[in-house]
Amino acid sequence: MNIHEYQAKEILARFGVKVPNGRVAYTPSEAEMAAKELGSEVFVVKAQIHAGGRGKGGGVKVVKSVAEVVSEAKRMLGMTLVTKQTGPAGKEVKRVYVEEGCKIARELYLGMVIDRGSSRVTMMASTEGGMEIEEVAARTPEKILKEAVDPAVGFAQFQARNLAYGLGLQGKQVGKAVKFMTALYKAFMATDASLAEINPLVVTADGEVMALDAKMNFDGNSLFRHKDLEELRDFDEENPKEVEASKHELNYIALDGAIGCMVNGAGLAMATMDIIQLKGSSPANFLDVGGGATTERVTAAFKLIVSDPKVKAVLVNIFGGIMRCDVIANGVVAAAKEVGIKVPLVVRLEGTNVDLGKKILKESGLPIITADDLDDAATKVVASIKGA
Ligand code: ADP
Ligand code: MG
Repeated sequence: MNIHEYQAKEILARFGVKVPNGRVAYTPSEAEMAAKELGSEVFVVKAQIHAGGRGKGGGVKVVKSVAEVVSEAKRMLGMTLVTKQTGPAGKEVKRVYVEEGCKIARELYLGMVIDRGSSRVTMMASTEGGMEIEEVAARTPEKILKEAVDPAVGFAQFQARNLAYGLGLQGKQVGKAVKFMTALYKAFMATDASLAEINPLVVTADGEVMALDAKMNFDGNSLFRHKDLEELRDFDEENPKEVEASKHELNYIALDGAIGCMVNGAGLAMATMDIIQLKGSSPANFLDVGGGATTERVTAAFKLIVSDPKVKAVLVNIFGGIMRCDVIANGVVAAAKEVGIKVPLVVRLEGTNVDLGKKILKESGLPIITADDLDDAATKVVASIKGA
């Protein structure tokens, strides 16, 4: 789960990570109040969307008066901000963050991730702050310093010092950076974060070390023990279909292809997507209805798939273990009757109660194309759109 910059800064500040003072605003008059409360000489108005690269897209402005804060807030609120990370459609700005401006001496990069290679939480630092770290990693990997954290020991002070010296920090800045990194590590662990990225981490003209930008992602599977974090979820930032899916406890990810998939089990879903590619088409979504789906959930899943205009054919691929094939068949039939089948529908069932499932499909009188195995199903579904 993703959150906004200002929310990440609030969380980090609680753990002792140094951030500039700021206030969130939903309207220009709230922005005005925020600026007056901050009473700074320089302000930064920052569009709050779940994407980076805002600076280049006009979503971060440094200004020197309350009046300019208001006019920037007016300009940003309601605008569609397009950045490298939003895709060409952009994102509508519904909140801005008004923050104290600071004098930057150096822009650095600091990030924490779970490194799947080493299976360890890893802190990364680079002198190439403010830029896209992916490019730094691709072009000059030696400029990214890494410290992997031993889970039994935790993030050690010497590791923080290694990074601080590696960044070329000197004198009191070293101690401040060590404190910063230690606090960042604490925040990361305590919130079950999967990513915490400070880009840029700055050294100010008066020698402070602080976070000018902050991005945090959390492990969705841990949200049950972080109700406070779950409340920060901003549904405006999420794909509406994915939000709808999560209400029905469906694992759904929207993709760009033409074949809608309804599958049980993530592994089978991956295999199904692969074989669709292999047969020369591509999946419109990843959808795992889970092990214990009910007819209602299957109906919801089916509706979700066919409501996507990109979907030119649907492939239902179910291996009934815990999930019974008759439940799936009933769900598919109920949903197909309710919304109508306007695209070819290929169904492959296998496992518990498969004969009953097939019988239900057959007796429904619906134009369902049945398949015997996954290869057959993929061939048929791809052929169905090639013919169209
Ligand atoms: P994004 O990564 O989405 O472009 P950032 O928050 O990193 O947004 O802001 C872009 C740039 O704006 C920063 O690299 C920094 O130079 C400047 N900036 C951001 N916040 C402040 C601030 N509080 N004071 C001064 N400059 C800032
Ligand atoms: Mg940034």
